[in-house]
Amino acid sequence: MTEELNPFKIAQEQLKIACDALGYDDSVYGALSEPKRLLTVSLTVRMDDGVFKTFKGFRCQYNDVRGPCKGGIRYHPDETVDTVKALAAWMTWKCAVVDIPLGGGKGGIICNPKEMSDMEIERLSRAYIDEIARIIGPTKDVPAPDVYTNPQIMAWMMDEYSQIMGYNVPGVITGKPIELGGSLGRGDATARGCVYTTREAAKELGIDLKGATVAIQGFGNAGQHLANLMHRLHGSKIVAVSDSKGGVLNMNGLEPHDLIDWKTKNKQVKGFPGSEEISNADLLEMDVDVLFPAALENVITGENAGNIKAKIISEAANGPTTPDADDILYKNNVFVIADFLCNAGGVTVSYFETVQNTYNYYWDEKEVHEKLDKKMTKAFYDVLTLSKKNKIHMRTAAYMVALERVVQAMRLRGWV
Ligand code: NAD
Repeated sequence: MTEELNPFKIAQEQLKIACDALGYDDSVYGALSEPKRLLTVSLTVRMDDGVFKTFKGFRCQYNDVRGPCKGGIRYHPDETVDTVKALAAWMTWKCAVVDIPLGGGKGGIICNPKEMSDMEIERLSRAYIDEIARIIGPTKDVPAPDVYTNPQIMAWMMDEYSQIMGYNVPGVITGKPIELGGSLGRGDATARGCVYTTREAAKELGIDLKGATVAIQGFGNAGQHLANLMHRLHGSKIVAVSDSKGGVLNMNGLEPHDLIDWKTKNKQVKGFPGSEEISNADLLEMDVDVLFPAALENVITGENAGNIKAKIISEAANGPTTPDADDILYKNNVFVIADFLCNAGGVTVSYFETVQNTYNYYWDEKEVHEKLDKKMTKAFYDVLTLSKKNKIHMRTAAYMVALERVVQAMRLRGWV
């Protein structure tokens, strides 16, 4: 990974821009430019062939001034400590921008779950919880799913933590199966939040989402629900979709349900009947109304930003755009809904899940959707208003809204 594409360096650079825009002195940047706590763990797990294998994992607690840390756990062969730190920083701003009383955290294990059996993934997940148990908990730090982790993994983790404590602790993890205290509406919450903010951006730009063209990079949890919801709620046309193995294109529209079935059966979108192939790089440069990066970091850079033709970029993924690309997109009038605002629906419903676990009383799905819409729409307009007032791009405005809330809490507690 080059220094310019190191996600943590990027997170620090974005923070510095926002601190300068708010006129904060160096002490604020100093207090927020590194995580408060970072734990590295070594996990030795017996594989199915009887051989022991050791994996490296991390848990980062970036800032908890506004409440317990919150953030997903990623399983990925390319996971790095700096990716975990960057994602934990972004979680801090994400919780603040939607104004939920949580801080930022993140975890990860360097592993390739695609090459592991379910039993091996279960043993690894339990080993991870054994090592981080002392620093997590409903009032300290509450993990959740991220790339290549899912509700089943959350269930094993919740069980392991509960075994250690000696009683059921559903609130230690969110994104759990409904049967174990998961919230209705959590499954598509990230995508739904992106769709709500995209709806408001389209209103702002005078774009009718009915029949609007949509391209989606990444077809996992976020990407699949995005395709489905944009089509179902707004009648938008999903013209291109990709995953790690390549992409598919049909300018007349890809049918989301059929495509999800195809992906589930074939483990890739490529080969979907009635589609042409498109590369991940070409998908990003398509002339569409809305582009959703919904895979990994650093896909829109100084190299390709000038070729982006989408009117709106709704960042479902964390960190898809580098700071130099941001400047180019802003000059070219591309409306960017910054990641930690756009994809905050997931953590917002995770927060609702914690609240329901604490009350031991559960809401129906409609109530979850309404509460989510209210949070996302309010956050969108908080950011848009500042962006217009100060003539700054939406990412810096989002940082400023979030940072002011975090710094105000730190000042009140005497931290800066
Ligand atoms: P996921 O594991 O369900 O899906 C990831 C998808 O990205 C897969 O389809 C994979 O094939 C694809 N992908 C991987 N490498 C790719 C590449 N090089 N090019 C194109 N596609 C590629 O993960 P997810 O939960 O959907 O997360 C996607 C993004 O959304 C991540 O950045 C994640 O941090 C972010 N996010 C997820 C949530 C959530 O609740 N799941 C919440 C907020 C943000």
